[in-house]
Amino acid sequence: MLPSLAPLFHHPPSPLEELENSTLRRTGVRLLVKRDDRLRLGPGMALCGNKWRKLQYNLQAARDEGQTTLLTFGGAYSNHIAAVAGAGAAFGFRTIGLIRGERPQGLNPTLHFAEDCGMELHFLSRAAFREKQSPGFINQLQEQFGPFYLLPEGGTNALALHGCRNIVEEVEQQTDGLPDYWCCSLGTGGTFAGIAAALGGRAKALGFSALKGDFHAEEVARLLEASQSSSPRGDKRGAGAWKVNTDFHFGGYAKFSPYLVDFINGFRQQHGILLDPIYTGKLFYGIFQLAEEGYFPEGSTILAVHTGGLQGIAGFNERFGELIDGG
Ligand SMILES: *Cc1c(COP(=O)(O)O)cnc(C)c1O
Repeated sequence: MLPSLAPLFHHPPSPLEELENSTLRRTGVRLLVKRDDRLRLGPGMALCGNKWRKLQYNLQAARDEGQTTLLTFGGAYSNHIAAVAGAGAAFGFRTIGLIRGERPQGLNPTLHFAEDCGMELHFLSRAAFREKQSPGFINQLQEQFGPFYLLPEGGTNALALHGCRNIVEEVEQQTDGLPDYWCCSLGTGGTFAGIAAALGGRAKALGFSALKGDFHAEEVARLLEASQSSSPRGDKRGAGAWKVNTDFHFGGYAKFSPYLVDFINGFRQQHGILLDPIYTGKLFYGIFQLAEEGYFPEGSTILAVHTGGLQGIAGFNERFGELIDGG
């Protein structure tokens, strides 16, 4: 039997830093940043941030089940694909990535990294990709590749939520009072749901959607429900204490405007912190916009989770023309 991975997973808590600027001073709020972008395991900077939090207990489960192959799905620039590939290289799993769309002529930086890590890339038509949840399709994949541990697209499942609860536990040990607002970017909603579940209504959780649409609150409610039935600390107090803001997606997933690009470059100059244009740039843009509008009462403390995603900047710059500095 292969040894447990748990000792390899041990790392110090990611740093917690306070930002200062004129908006925060004028509006009388404090902003703390949980630097999960600084959690880096394995090669490169792919296995970091919330993708690490979401994978951690899944990797352990795969090892405990005796699985040596991880199979997952994602888009061509996916942070999750890069993280799974990095995890395979770091912890000795064979990894298979099923990528939406046709194989491009040259691989983009994300897929190039994944292949360098040893990930076997297979490209699926958009129609086939939509079948990824169906049992028939999964069976077919097992015949093709042999047994594997299946990670869903984006990495969100019950164990992923469990890993994201650790964000709250770390912050509780790093601060005196619990911050009033916990802000985090939302894709599948797994990270946000994990945070909201761990808070259990003790503070407000505010999610910023990176995608267009109005399905997010329903999805978070579903994830919370599922986690409450499986969590020993499950409680329903969190029900009214979280909210999803859908005003800052900039037109949808991976859509952006010059304002967002300027904000990200200015933020790095002022605070020395690099943000990605898909998730964390939109999160911090939204937080400052809401602060300007007086959304956060004077005297409140906001915590923002920097969920990482920095590996995606190279691909973004390659596609759109070196817009983000320092990526
Ligand atoms: C994937 C990702 C998110 C979204 O996380 P979900 O758990 O899918 O909501 C947020 N930020 C970054 C940097 C990500 O890579």
